[in-house]
Amino acid sequence: MLRINELKLPLNHPDSALREAILTRLGIAGEDLIGFSVFKRSYDARKKTAIVLIYALDVEVRGEAAVLARMGGDQYIVPAPDTSYKFATTARPPAGVPRPVVVGMGPCGMFVALILAQMGLNPIVLERGKIVRERTVDTFGFWRKRKLNTESNVQFGEGGAGTFSDGKLYSQIKDPKHYGRKVLTEFVKAGAPEEILYVSKPHIGTFRLVKMVEQIRAEIQSLGGEIRFETRVDDIFVSEENGVRQVQGVRLSNGEELPTRHLVMAIGHSARDTFELLYERGVYIEAKPFSIGFRVEHPQSLIDVCRFGPNAGNKLLGAADYKIVHHASNGRSVYSFCMCPGGTVVAASSEEGRVVTNGMSQYSRAERNANSAIVVGITPDDYPGHPLAGIAFQRELESRAYVLGGSNYDAPGQLMGDFVKGVASKEFGSVVPSFKPAVRLTDLAPSLPDYAIQAMREAFVAFDKQIKGYYKHDAVLTGVETRTSSPIRIKRNDHDLQSLNTRGLFPAGEGAGYAGGIMSAAVDGIRVAEAVALSLVA
Ligand code: FAD
Repeated sequence: MLRINELKLPLNHPDSALREAILTRLGIAGEDLIGFSVFKRSYDARKKTAIVLIYALDVEVRGEAAVLARMGGDQYIVPAPDTSYKFATTARPPAGVPRPVVVGMGPCGMFVALILAQMGLNPIVLERGKIVRERTVDTFGFWRKRKLNTESNVQFGEGGAGTFSDGKLYSQIKDPKHYGRKVLTEFVKAGAPEEILYVSKPHIGTFRLVKMVEQIRAEIQSLGGEIRFETRVDDIFVSEENGVRQVQGVRLSNGEELPTRHLVMAIGHSARDTFELLYERGVYIEAKPFSIGFRVEHPQSLIDVCRFGPNAGNKLLGAADYKIVHHASNGRSVYSFCMCPGGTVVAASSEEGRVVTNGMSQYSRAERNANSAIVVGITPDDYPGHPLAGIAFQRELESRAYVLGGSNYDAPGQLMGDFVKGVASKEFGSVVPSFKPAVRLTDLAPSLPDYAIQAMREAFVAFDKQIKGYYKHDAVLTGVETRTSSPIRIKRNDHDLQSLNTRGLFPAGEGAGYAGGIMSAAVDGIRVAEAVALSLVA
């Protein structure tokens, strides 16, 4: 199989043009082309009136070696790499070794469990939240009726934090072993549209994710895995063996004690109580940088026209996204994060008396507004003194937002123009905010530290140079966005992925500071599953 990279065709080309382009590119006759498939498709929209599709194609031809030799030196025509997934081991653990335990059923824990189950290693998964259907009822209940269930919400429950999301499935991680392909292949098996395998920025949307999570659960169980919902890990047991700290088991919220020597902690960035527990039990943790800011809503049509010009609305391009950065004069970077085209802003609290925002969409991305977090990078220098100080800092900001919103889970909001001028907003303009229960207009300046407010005021004006119309007086800001990534890192060794000071503990995914987003969390899950398997059979 050959791979042709960087094959470019105009946006509205007929299907037949692809075949013609392959024949021309390889200089072969029609009968020598056995078949082809699209490996990746992206677009270049820098010239809005002449948007170009860019293909990577896998092509089967007669006389492949000769074609390759003739094209020798052409960097865009190469043998197609083998991207199939191979299990790290087929060996069995010695008798008597307790089963591996995976804490958390987000994308990371789900893939740890799936890979272990596919290897026949019978994982036990512990998830504090409910199965995804019941969790959906609780989450929508919070948005509609302001009733927060602190164990079943946007952050906690089957599917993890990414379940009520835009379901963006791309990431910029290095992936030399093609683990991302394994993740996408499993998602397609579980019901995701096939196109996620080849479009450059695949996304699934909330409702499809819910069904896929159920399918993956069923597969883990059918392969011998066990999943316990509404089961929180409340303690871990560690003892010294030959001078080394070794995990011995966990205590669950129902009081039960479960022995294990292989404990994966894939607990996400919002399990603050569990972070505290790990710290108290002596697990090495350090503070790490994250970001804070607001969700910003514009009309989606404004973003579409700015990005695609006359091609706005083209079905193949879909709703336009954006990525913007501004380096403010006070030294802070302000950037867009987790942009959700045609989506809604959601209440993402998991603790009482605190307001947090995030964004989600459906597969169609057909809602009226585009939303994105606009956030300011912060570092442990902004919350010095203790490895868990970032959590206290997040809590403080989320509590301020709760009070500014009216102390009833409404979120505080402001029009962009008023925010830049520093005056409280009184009335919405043309942009109707999508956040539920509601947005309460106010002055957002007291919600975040001064340096962040100053940097964002400058950035909103500067962004107008990158996206014409972005600095829009009545665009709506909703606060606060504080859970952009984990405020801590549970450090692990590079070689066996076990905690720096506690053997048998495998910190994994976003909460441990090793992923950011669904895809990178799932890929980290595969890596950790392999490390657990190799340790189990050693
Ligand atoms: P999580 O998904 O957070 O899963 C951790 C799980 O552990 C949770 O289910 C939790 O209940 C469980 N848990 C925690 N503590 C315990 C305990 N003590 N005992 C038992 N269980 C426990 N990323 C993208 O790539 N694309 C997007 O479009 C996107 N949109 C998002 C939208 C929203 C609203 C949110 C909140 C996040 C979004 N993200 C998105 C981020 C993405 O969801 C996360 O990066 C990803 O879910 C992290 O995966 P994880 O498995 O590491 O952790």
